[in-house]
Formats: sequence, C-alpha cells, structure tokens
Amino acid sequence: MTTVPSPAQLGGRSLERVVYAEEEIRRRVEALAREITEAYGPEDELLVVGLLKGSFIFLADLVRRIELPLKVDFLVAASYGAGMVSSGEVRLLYDPEARLTGRAVVVVEDIVDSGTTLNRILPLLAARGPKSLELCALLHKRRVRLDPEPRWVGFEAPAEFLVGYGLDHREELRHLPYIASL
Ligand code: 5GP
Ligand code: MG
Repeated sequence: MTTVPSPAQLGGRSLERVVYAEEEIRRRVEALAREITEAYGPEDELLVVGLLKGSFIFLADLVRRIELPLKVDFLVAASYGAGMVSSGEVRLLYDPEARLTGRAVVVVEDIVDSGTTLNRILPLLAARGPKSLELCALLHKRRVRLDPEPRWVGFEAPAEFLVGYGLDHREELRHLPYIASL
C-alpha cells in the first residue's frame, strides 16, 4: 500500500517526503505489541502511560494489539513551545492518577530527540515504586544516549523534523496517517 498525502489534510504546507508509510507503521506497531505481550504476564498489572499529546495515535494502535489485561493512563509534559527546537524546559501539566506501586509500567513516547523530557519524567515515575519501568518509543533520533535507553523502539528516526501519526507542527498535522518530514 502506498501512502498518498492528501492536500486537504496539509492545509497548504508541503511535505519533504513520506518517511514511514501507514502500512510500515502498522506492521512495526504490531511487532512491538507482540514483544510487549511476551514480556509480561497478567500478574504484572501492566500500566501503559502515554506521554501526551504526541503519543496518542501510537498508544491507541499499540494497546489494541497487546494481549494482556492492562490499564491506560496519560501524562502531559510540554517541552517544545510552538517552535521546532527543544527549549530544554519540561512542564508537567497532568499526572497519572493510576497507582504505579507494584505494577509493571510502560511509558509510551512518540519520539526521543534530546532526551530532556524522559530524563525529567522517568525519575518522577520511578519514585512511585513501580515493579518495573520501561520505555517504548515509536521513534528515536539517537542524538543522545539515554540512561536507561528505551527497551522498545519502533524506528531509528532520521535527523529531520517529523510530522504525522501524532507528531505535530504548531499543533497541526497530528492527524496524518503516515509520518513525513517537513
Ligand atoms: P526531547 O525532550 O527528547 O528533546 O523531545 C521529545 C519531544 O519533542 C517529543 O515527545 C516530541 O513532542 C518533540 N519532538 C522531538 N523531535 C520531534 C520531531 O521531529 N517532530 C515533532 N513533531 N516533534 C518532535
Ligand atoms: Mg512529545
């Protein structure tokens, strides 16, 4: 299946290229969900925490393929403002309500760039005593080394500004069903 960008979705913007087509994303997300399914059991009380807003589509596709009982919660951290460059500042706007203590927690992130967001957030979650804390990132730019690195990564991302499948440019283009560079 080829992905043909719909001009109506782009609102006058032009894309550089489609980097990951719908079908490629679907297959990769299925594989990640299989690995997560195999890594845990029902006794782990899996809690999947999505970092909003960027992970919302990835998270929705991922959890529907995980064949285990689980709960979903969200965390809102803003790190970018309106621009395309990381400001290094992370604000927590919503904290998960779900209990983390004693549960296997998987944090779902759209893309790892400077690592600032995760370096700030993972220690906060670790302090709540989860049984385990792992990270599943759809995309990783490998600009920096994280400690720990995500256990699951969808794609090694090019050093380009990506949009679509949850990723925005100034809050737009999140709804593109593929991932493209601007
Ligand atoms: P970090 O804190 O690792 O620098 O950045 C993580 C966040 O920055 C991601 O969750 C995402 O919201 C945003 N980000 C990083 N790279 C890109 C990109 O190429 N495109 C978009 N749309 N957002 C990005
Ligand atoms: Mg984000």
